Amino acid sequence: MKLLFIDLDGVVADFVSAMNTHPKKEISPYDEHPDTIPHIFRDLKPIKGAIKAVNILLDATNYNVYFLSTAPWDNPSAWTDKRLWIEEQFGEKINRKLILTHRKDLVKGDILIDDRPNNGAKDFEGELITFGSHKYPNWDAVLHYLV
Ligand SMILES: [Mg+2]
Repeated sequence: MKLLFIDLDGVVADFVSAMNTHPKKEISPYDEHPDTIPHIFRDLKPIKGAIKAVNILLDATNYNVYFLSTAPWDNPSAWTDKRLWIEEQFGEKINRKLILTHRKDLVKGDILIDDRPNNGAKDFEGELITFGSHKYPNWDAVLHYLV
């Protein structure tokens, strides 16, 4: 059984689209810090193929899956919104399987799927699968490798 961590924004949740279309995106201070818009994390659209792929991994007997994400420190509602969003998408299956931290390198495990090196991802002790990279451009490629 491998411990598999999956990032949220840019891997499962489409934060960039929400940011680009948000009505407050040009108002200060959100123009410079769009990730601090209250409740912007509550209504994100899923990344293509992500919900199906994560369900497959959640159901796989050889992986123990957790979400490993960072919520902006200056956006307290984001911490709650991420918790509510994953329940909406995955239901009971995802109960208590959310880790929010700015130090992904301190979390012990085998594999991390992440789209960026930030918040300790690049120093994760296990294998880093870079989502959106040439090797893993989308969920089909990631699933093909993992399952
Ligand atoms: Mg990300």
